[in-house]
Amino acid sequence: MLSYLHAFHAGNFADVQKHASLTLALSMMQVKPSGIACFDTHAGSAVYDLSGERARKTGEADAGVQALWRSRGRLASPDWARLLDVLAGLNSGEGRLERYPGSPVWFRQALRPADTLTAFELHPAEHDQLSGWAADQRVRVLRQDGLAGLLKQLPPRQPRLLVLIDPSYEIKSEYSDVAATLEKAWQKCRHGVFLVWYPILPGGLQEALKDAVEAGSVAKVLCSEVCLRQPPERGMAGSGVLVVNPPWGFGERLATMMEAAAEPLGTDHTVRWLVPEA
Ligand code: SAM
Repeated sequence: MLSYLHAFHAGNFADVQKHASLTLALSMMQVKPSGIACFDTHAGSAVYDLSGERARKTGEADAGVQALWRSRGRLASPDWARLLDVLAGLNSGEGRLERYPGSPVWFRQALRPADTLTAFELHPAEHDQLSGWAADQRVRVLRQDGLAGLLKQLPPRQPRLLVLIDPSYEIKSEYSDVAATLEKAWQKCRHGVFLVWYPILPGGLQEALKDAVEAGSVAKVLCSEVCLRQPPERGMAGSGVLVVNPPWGFGERLATMMEAAAEPLGTDHTVRWLVPEA
């Protein structure tokens, strides 16, 4: 089933948390010079038009990245600066943001010569848009299932690994599929840093993912969750990211970022170990 299009949701509060986690992990890993193999299992498009019909239909970015952008002068954490610079580089004026980068763009803007990105996207139109954008020999775009594709590519050539797993969870079984893939990928590359995004839903479907990860053998799993102070009656009440093998101090720095963004986003953030070090 490929009915999900991220253009309706790009730049919402969940994207802000996910992309803040991703850019922080990247920059903390890049303190060391050795190359990083990056994988984006569910990449979506490259750049989203926040003035376009799809984004305007839901207006989700208004309470997400647009609210963050309006408050950028008050975001005390220096870790927001890199992310804000990328947004400034993509947008011309000082007013509302017109363009918002998807995860492959967040990855690519940080790639160094020895780093690579492999992006999987199954939707034909999204895949074509992404392929057209990725004119960079360090970036590969593959129209393959992202979970199976990732497992085929591990272990990578480079000494280090960063994976973003960000499905649309249109099918209930995706929660357990993601947990099973994480387990297998970690068995192949135990030092890898894995970021797994999930929605926090009123029915608690996401607990299946967390329970399966807790029951498995993957160790050092941090769990970051932002919850909306005024959740809608239907739909996402919050957004979560599991981070396997986070760089040292990652949780504290992410917490500082999300606390600084709590007022503009109308969210509360918690971070805890779902599975501590073995
Ligand atoms: N990661 C993107 C970001 O942060 O900007 C958003 C991705 S969106 C939540 C999920 C994407 O996964 C959609 O574009 C969808 O077409 C794609 N998709 C769905 N099933 C897939 C699969 N089995 N393998 C790869 N991509 C898939």
